[in-house]
Amino acid sequence: PRREDVHYFGAGPAPLPTSVLEEAAKVLLNYNDSGIGITEISHRSPEANAILAHAQDALRQLLDIPNGDGPEGYQILFLQGGGSGEFSAVVYNLVSVWLAKRAKGIVDDETKLADEVAKLRLDYLVTGSWSLKASQEAARLIGKEHVNIVTDSRQHRDGKVGVIPSAETYKPSTTAADVALTYYCDNETVDGVEFQGTPDGENLVADMSSNFLSRRVDVRKHIAIFGGAQKNIGTTGITIAIISNKILPPHAAMADSVLMRKLGLSVGPVVLDYPTVAKNNSLYNTLPIFDVWIAGRVMQRLLDASEGQTPRIATQQAESDKKAKDLYAVLDGSDVYTVVPDKSVRSRMNLCFRIKGGDADAEKAFLKGAESRGLFGLKGHRSVGGIRASNYNAVSVAAVEKLIQYMKDFADGKA
Ligand code: PLP
Repeated sequence: PRREDVHYFGAGPAPLPTSVLEEAAKVLLNYNDSGIGITEISHRSPEANAILAHAQDALRQLLDIPNGDGPEGYQILFLQGGGSGEFSAVVYNLVSVWLAKRAKGIVDDETKLADEVAKLRLDYLVTGSWSLKASQEAARLIGKEHVNIVTDSRQHRDGKVGVIPSAETYKPSTTAADVALTYYCDNETVDGVEFQGTPDGENLVADMSSNFLSRRVDVRKHIAIFGGAQKNIGTTGITIAIISNKILPPHAAMADSVLMRKLGLSVGPVVLDYPTVAKNNSLYNTLPIFDVWIAGRVMQRLLDASEGQTPRIATQQAESDKKAKDLYAVLDGSDVYTVVPDKSVRSRMNLCFRIKGGDADAEKAFLKGAESRGLFGLKGHRSVGGIRASNYNAVSVAAVEKLIQYMKDFADGKA
């Protein structure tokens, strides 16, 4: 089939605007009339620096990210290693900041230091597969005795995810000063669950891999926000992290490798070390500038569409909300479909549903019929089955309308 006849609802990697890809095809061969392609130029060239600065500035405007070198400012970092790499990075970096603070004045007293380390806690809100994975990585890196599960949504819904328990039921670690980080996944891609507001927590860290740039973010409540680019922002290959200056020098110190090792903790790889990446403006090692360029073009489109809005992401948010609302209206309007997660926490980005209560033949027929109309990528994640329609920014209103028509026809036996 031709590109224009296909509508793709995959969960990631996900579609990109055709105009950006057309421009990309050109710059791959010849960037800025230089005769050299964009993947061939140095990541330290003036051209690459301009691409990086533009992407950082666009993101700042879209999400209203505080600037400056003071403690209230945030750095925008481009890293590699994906969302999964950040599961590890936040642990390495925030444990190191925590330990440097706690070890002050008692560095030479091994007993006192060991007593302090025993108090270290990382608080995790487990609301689906990705936050579960992140909590497992923390346990692997520093030991499960340091990982506190603040909430596990499976305990609130017969062993299944699909709710976000109310904050009154949370069990955060009792002493806030012991908490190196409080972690949550804003949108659970596999399970179709999205936070409806920012949770509270000491040193708050958010995984926004699958709803980045789809709505306003209360950046100031967070110490770190990260997300892989490959869903709403660009191509696979870069991860964006928004890091508070409060956890970077000169506002915070990191424990050195000797101190960390003395306590049986390890320091992280240098490419995941936020102070190193920040100090080098994301150019400590070779950054895939083409991926940053793509992200910059995608963000520029959002800016162009959002004149006069504050924050600038508000325009995209309105479109994302409307597309999701229209899709859920069809799902709710027919008893052929059941939405998997609870109504109160439905994701606007990944709509997970079953057909005839999870009838395998009916779901197969739904997918086959969808493909015959050019609607692809609707199969649910292999771990949960069912149907998943991902509603990322590059899924057009027209594509959503086509899917809506198909869902109606299928429910009416006309597909
Ligand atoms: N977090 C979320 C919410 C995701 O959806 C994904 C991947 O789909 C990841 C993390 C892992 O990202 P990566 O594959 O880039 O490591």
